[in-house]
Amino acid sequence: MTLTVTDLKAPEGFERLVRAEDAEAGLRALICIHSTVLGPAAGGCRMWAYGGEAEAIEDVTRLARGMTYKNAMAGLGLGGGKSVIIGDARRDKTPAMMRAFGRAVEALGGRYYTAEDVGISPEDMAHAARETRFAVGLSGASGDPSPWTAEGVFRCLLTGAAHVFGSDDLRGRRVLVQGLGHVGMDLARKLAAAGADLVVTDIHAEALRIATADLGAAVCEPGAVFEQQMDVYAPCALGGVITDDSAARLRARLICGAANNQLATPALARSLRARGITYLPDYVVNAGGIISVASEIHGKDDAWRRARLDGIAGRVAEMLVRAGAEGRCTTDIADEMVGRMLQGRSAA
Ligand code: NAD
Repeated sequence: MTLTVTDLKAPEGFERLVRAEDAEAGLRALICIHSTVLGPAAGGCRMWAYGGEAEAIEDVTRLARGMTYKNAMAGLGLGGGKSVIIGDARRDKTPAMMRAFGRAVEALGGRYYTAEDVGISPEDMAHAARETRFAVGLSGASGDPSPWTAEGVFRCLLTGAAHVFGSDDLRGRRVLVQGLGHVGMDLARKLAAAGADLVVTDIHAEALRIATADLGAAVCEPGAVFEQQMDVYAPCALGGVITDDSAARLRARLICGAANNQLATPALARSLRARGITYLPDYVVNAGGIISVASEIHGKDDAWRRARLDGIAGRVAEMLVRAGAEGRCTTDIADEMVGRMLQGRSAA
């Protein structure tokens, strides 16, 4: 029991950034609360082998801010926060580490709710939940959020396809899924069932083997994504995949995927638009998981989360119409909608 929770200087516009350390349990984590204007902050916990604390801080702050936007847009009565554990999830993670993380979340007194993200499973959250009331996405409660995320992304992809190609019939449409994890594999299954011509990539051979054997997917090397000819690009690994270089090389007309913070910089939305590529804002399309988690936080039933999941694709359709009519980027329309919500509540 050697947990220490230390406040670090939060970036401007952020409410709180803490470092949680427990040498005995091998825990080194950062928890960031971006905003609680609309309610307690909620956002997953990611475990990743960051190069150092600065890299982890950059990631956790970007992700926490994204959660404010995602939760606001999905109308969940929640603010934005996120946590990251520094380490290799396949090698370093232990139940003791997750329990220490749970104690750190508890120390924040309910200002932040945590759940699964990359590298963290419902079983891991169950360990954390032994130490905190503020761990959600638990088996036996709302469960793994990933299938909800995948379903939301799939529906938005259909909406995007209808807008871009004039039909949401995916038969024969080449869709590249980057990252076959909890969300990507589920999405790939839905795409295969809808008749898409599936191309997949991952850094783990086993996921690729399943996708080729079960779904008849073609495989591309992780480094060759932007050389592929495709209709739709579905980034479902990590963020920052759209850069100046990849935006110039991408051969897709639609981008719709689960990864958070897909654009390395906001300005890339303009480059994509200039190339005739429709980008569906990540935080709008990937809200299915947090919707599921929110149902647990608020004690709501399945009908509540289904109704909110149904709302995602409708918002995307509205954004696409507005973006077309006003000659603007979808990201600008989405950010403007959230900005108004936050301002309205701050003023109130
Ligand atoms: P995951 O860890 O289960 O899957 C990520 C997959 O990406 C893994 O299979 C990994 O091997 C692969 N990968 C990593 N680097 C890669 C690379 N360079 N090229 C190709 N593949 C690579 O994570 P997940 O839960 O499926 O989440 C995927 C993305 O969606 C993340 O960005 C996450 O933040 C975001 N997201 C997830 C949820 C959710 O409900 N799980 C909700 C919202 C957003």
